[in-house]
Formats: sequence, C-alpha cells, structure tokens
Amino acid sequence: MEIFKERIRKEGKALNEHVLKVDGFVNHQVDPELMEQIGEEFAKHFEEKNITKVVTIESSGIAPALMTARKLGKQLLILKKKTSKVLNEDLYQTPVISFTKGEEYNLTMSKKFIEEGDRVLIIDDFLANGEACSGAIRLLEEAKAEIAGVGILIEKSFQPGRERLEKQGIDVYSLARIKSLAEGKIEFLGE
Ligand code: 5GP
Repeated sequence: MEIFKERIRKEGKALNEHVLKVDGFVNHQVDPELMEQIGEEFAKHFEEKNITKVVTIESSGIAPALMTARKLGKQLLILKKKTSKVLNEDLYQTPVISFTKGEEYNLTMSKKFIEEGDRVLIIDDFLANGEACSGAIRLLEEAKAEIAGVGILIEKSFQPGRERLEKQGIDVYSLARIKSLAEGKIEFLGE
C-alpha cells in the first residue's frame, strides 16, 4: 500500500536493526484517515473470504482492526493480554512472549464471543516472530473457528513471523514488507 509505505519512509524511525517506531501515526498518536484507508484495503483484499468476525490483540491492532470490521460490517473482538493466568472455564487462554517487552503474557478470549465455524480475519500492527498471531490462532482453533486470513500493517520480513504462519497454511497479507532496518535505514522488499 504505497501511501502507507510513504508515511513509514517519512515518519518511521528504525530504533535499531530489529525495531521500527511508528508512534506518530500508528500506535501512540493514531491517524484516523490513514486507519480508514487501511480498513478499506483489508476489507477489499479479504472480501471474498466470507469473514464473520475480525479479531485483534490489544492495544495497537485496535484502530486498524476496528476500521476493517466497520468496512466489512462485522463485529470486532479484542484479545486481552493478562499477566496472570485467571482460572476461568469461560475463557480460552494461551501463553505468548511479547516481542517488545520480552515478557510472557496470557492471551485471553472469552468463549461467549466466538462460535464454532466463525470465519475470522486477524488484524495486527506488526508481524515480527509471529508469536502474537500464533497465540491468537491457537485460541481460535481451540474454539473451532476458521482462520480466513491475517492482515498486517507492517511485516518485518527479515524476522520469521510470515514463514511461521504460512507453514500453518495461513494466508498473510501485509501492507508494508520491510527487508531491513540496518544502519537506521528503512528498506522495503522489492525496492
Ligand atoms: P510478534 O508477536 O510477531 O513477534 O510481534 C508482534 C507484536 O509485537 C505486535 O503486536 C507489536 O505490538 C509488537 N512489535 C513487533 N515488532 C515491532 C516493532 O518493530 N515496532 C513496534 N512498535 N512494535 C513491534
């Protein structure tokens, strides 16, 4: 998505060779117009997939996922990050390692908001090691939902997330694919 890549080129900052900062328009301050365009793009890309629900992981995925859900006319489900394991039979939970904090949390989803046979589109801001998405997939599969696709704003293609998801047969669509963040330069795949 060219306008999004342009924005990353102008306002993104490679903090080091592993981490990109986009806090001026994606995950601290959020640009609603850009999020609307992103929602339209995901809705268009996945329109043939009979999506019944959009799922994201709190908190950075919420803005683009909400816009996508709005465009598809479906409900948005936000998976929660809990630090302690709450024993509750109404919840699905699975441990996930946070990329940015390096800590483990329990990704949590209430059983009442997902049904067997739901066709789910997962939306998240970044794809790095694929931990967060894989956790979401585990919960959704436990609930016998189908994964119709994964939509990512920024994929760091030099990290193993995409490969990990594709090995599970998941269709991954990323709006910007980054080849490298070395020496403070943001390089996209195919450029
Ligand atoms: P993964 O679970 O794929 O290893 O990492 C994805 C999650 O970690 C995303 O939900 C995102 O919040 C965070 N993340 C991963 N890489 C980056 C990055 O380069 N910059 C920022 N701001 N967040 C990242």
